[in-house]
Amino acid sequence: MSDNLSVSLDGTRCKSYGICVSVMPDVFDTPPGSPTAVLLRDTVDADEREDLEEAARVCPAQAIALNSGPRP
Ligand code: SF4
Repeated sequence: MSDNLSVSLDGTRCKSYGICVSVMPDVFDTPPGSPTAVLLRDTVDADEREDLEEAARVCPAQAIALNSGPRP
């Protein structure tokens, strides 16, 4: 059974520190010239939940949110 989590990134908070990229480089990226990080995908599998929670926890700007269940 899939139990995906959706990820959101608040571009008004993100200061492009890139810490999230070091935690989950397959979800977050900081493209050259971009003022904020971007999402490479907006859902993660249940088995990636801990990594995503870690990324949200270490983000200095608290720009990362995760939501259970499918996106509305
Ligand atoms: S850790 Fe937070 S502030 Fe830094 S790039 Fe990622 S989302 Fe942006």
